[in-house]
Amino acid sequence: MSAGLHELSAKQALAGLRAGKFSSVELTRAYLERIEQHNPRLNAYLHVAAESALQAAAAADKQYAKAKRSKSAKLPALLGLPIAVKDVLAVAGMPATCGSRILENFVPSYTATSVQRLLDAGVVILGKTNTDEFAMGSSTENSAYGVTHNPWDETRVPGGSSGGSAAAVAARLAPVALGTDTGGSVRQPAAFCGLSGLKTTYGRVSRYGLVAFGSSLDTVGVLARDAADAGLILKVMGGYDPRDATTVEKTPKLEKPSGKSLKGLRIGVPKEYFIDGLSAEVENGVREAIRQLEALGAKAVPVSLPHTEYALPVYYIIAPAEASANLARFDGVRYGLRVAQDDLIEMFKRSRGAGFGPEVKRRIMIGSYALSAGYYDAYYGQAQKVRALIRRDFDNVFKKVDIIAAPSTPSTAFRIGAHGNDPLEMYLEDVFTLPANLAGVPGLCVCAGFDGQSLPIGLQMLGPHFADERLLAVAAAYQKVTDWHKQAPAL
Ligand code: GLN
Repeated sequence: MSAGLHELSAKQALAGLRAGKFSSVELTRAYLERIEQHNPRLNAYLHVAAESALQAAAAADKQYAKAKRSKSAKLPALLGLPIAVKDVLAVAGMPATCGSRILENFVPSYTATSVQRLLDAGVVILGKTNTDEFAMGSSTENSAYGVTHNPWDETRVPGGSSGGSAAAVAARLAPVALGTDTGGSVRQPAAFCGLSGLKTTYGRVSRYGLVAFGSSLDTVGVLARDAADAGLILKVMGGYDPRDATTVEKTPKLEKPSGKSLKGLRIGVPKEYFIDGLSAEVENGVREAIRQLEALGAKAVPVSLPHTEYALPVYYIIAPAEASANLARFDGVRYGLRVAQDDLIEMFKRSRGAGFGPEVKRRIMIGSYALSAGYYDAYYGQAQKVRALIRRDFDNVFKKVDIIAAPSTPSTAFRIGAHGNDPLEMYLEDVFTLPANLAGVPGLCVCAGFDGQSLPIGLQMLGPHFADERLLAVAAAYQKVTDWHKQAPAL
């Protein structure tokens, strides 16, 4: 009965498990077989946890059987559902390389809160997915363990940094996967791989056990086939965590559309997101999706987020500054790689020199410079001030509209190596995703069609703080009347 199980969405798979149509072991096996078949080419997973996954699946099946015997309906929400986890999130007993040589042999002894909540709800972890080193990048080309290939066109990148998770879900090597988004790393790979990718509101999901990159920007998110699946995961993994002081104790409940109609929903279309450099095909796809939302009853109005153009320079000061501080802990003593030397300072230097790749070193240098005495006010201090203006832009616009609709990326998936020699070109990939992180607001990317080369186009929706569910509800309404999200790449 395992034929075709990988075609089920997470929601469908859970319904099948509950109805006893197949077992979690069968479902998990189906995914492990696909991983075995396709991962050597795609390189979506860095670590496949076949044995522990099958054990967890068998335990889930026992629980289902027991519940059936005792006729008790109370079962954990995600019992027996396989998932993949980005390799920057700690799972006890599994490697957490963060795509870096410096953590090549690091196996954490603890589990990230987001992942633990999913485990408590019964998920089966298939393995850890590829990422740009320490989540710095937009293509997974910065991974020390090789690039991930986009399942829609294997000569192209899947986006990044959560490219391994995106490729895994798109290629049906997992029903859903966790990613992280510091500047776009869930939404951009979702766009490139035709998925629904949710960047949660900052403070909604615990960062405990997420290896820190830019602590004021980092968020845990989901890569899923549709909005309903992303919602399932968010519901379980979100919420207050005493181990992360930035999580909120009570998530405010914002109004959201129910069912098919979007009547009364006001959508802001920011002119700063439709600029030179945006591909005509992406623009057309996004505008068509907005028309579709209007056909469902929403009203689209032009809005302006005047400080958008500063998001890129501001992000590329703040994120490296925070990264330079966060990455100081990788010193050859506490974790991973050590290049033994008689002299301590020499050991630090050589270990970091050998362990970090070029992009990480570049960011540590930029960040240390921006934070150094004499430059702090001019760079970091100034960037923080402009960040406040970017956030205020959103606050102002969300007084007038319920959500914002815009492109996720300037283009569809680019070729592997296309930005190889120019880091600035790569940074430009993030123009449309960075502002949400600087403001802390939630963002959801959904597939809104395909370009002339059959590559997915992403529509990005943004909402005010804690409007995560509102975005998911709008996307669910859109996905009721469109079927872009149902397309799968032919492998
Ligand atoms: N591409 C952006 C960067 O390189 C964002 C990465 C992320 O969201 N983790 O920093």
